[in-house]
Amino acid sequence: ARGRNCYQYFTPSMQEHAVTRMQLVRDMKSAINPANSGQFQLYYQPIIDLRDGSVTKAEALIRWYHPERGFIPLNEFIKLAEETRIIIDIGDWVFREATLQCANWRDRFGDDFQISINTSPVQYHSEHFRVSRWLDYMHTINLPGKAVVVEITEGLLMETTGKVTSELLEFRDAGVQVSLDDFGTGYSSLAYLKKFDIDYLKIDQSFVRELENGSDDMALCEAIIVMAHKLGIKVVAEGVETEEQKRLLMAASCDYAQGYHFARPLPARDFEALLTRRLVGV
Ligand code: C2E
Ligand code: MG
Ligand code: MG
Ligand code: MG
Repeated sequence: ARGRNCYQYFTPSMQEHAVTRMQLVRDMKSAINPANSGQFQLYYQPIIDLRDGSVTKAEALIRWYHPERGFIPLNEFIKLAEETRIIIDIGDWVFREATLQCANWRDRFGDDFQISINTSPVQYHSEHFRVSRWLDYMHTINLPGKAVVVEITEGLLMETTGKVTSELLEFRDAGVQVSLDDFGTGYSSLAYLKKFDIDYLKIDQSFVRELENGSDDMALCEAIIVMAHKLGIKVVAEGVETEEQKRLLMAASCDYAQGYHFARPLPARDFEALLTRRLVGV
């Protein structure tokens, strides 16, 4: 991790670190086993339509409830899952669980409901991953393409191989929408927005956090929104925590917002209670 051209003694603390990692990897593999179902759970965070305060979308966010350690923070296991490629199996589980839940909610609450699902670049690059299998699954549960939004990151668009491009096009052909997550944090290039037909762009919460009238972040958000709209892309603001942030985003014609100001990510049952009310209120 320190780069080439140097050496480093293996220290007890490194050993401890390696052991913890190995344990975590082992536990992740066991958590994905259907016999241990319940360790991985999906939480749902509403995405609010800023025109009327309605909730017709939710982002599915994974949670890992470890039998001995309780909830493990995402930043402790997602990277590790990517490095070990366990994310491919986890991602399959997330996709099936989220789409099944979405089908259920569409039946009961209206078929304009959409589920937004995070995906990792590691999945698209893997030889073992096929978008067509996900589409087959959606077919078996009778879920139309337009019910699903896949969230990808700028990193994925940077290193597009033929496989990545064709997998993404498969989503497109099936009517699945694509959202560019954490916009502005990666190696953003406006060229990607032109190259790929993207439906949504999510402004990263780091730009939203310090939104105030006249700040640089305000200027950036406004510019991103104007540009996106000219390209026919809808904008979602992430991490909206205050009334003032919401107000400024509305003034800038932002389409959707997500954040603690409206609701935290919720277990399915709590999200359902919110869906029955539909309006979170703008
Ligand atoms: P993300 O996709 O950008 O998700 C938004 C993150 O912001 C979530 O963190 C959410 O809980 C948090 N958040 C929402 N509103 C607010 C707010 O108002 N303030 C603040 N400070 N935070 C807010 P979470 O759930 O910890 O997820 C972290 C990241 O882990 C996600 O970032 C996503 O990149 C990744 N992730 C989560 N679930 C999955 C999954 O199923 N698959 C993959 N590949 N990655 C996932
Ligand atoms: Mg996301
Ligand atoms: Mg994000
Ligand atoms: Mg983010």
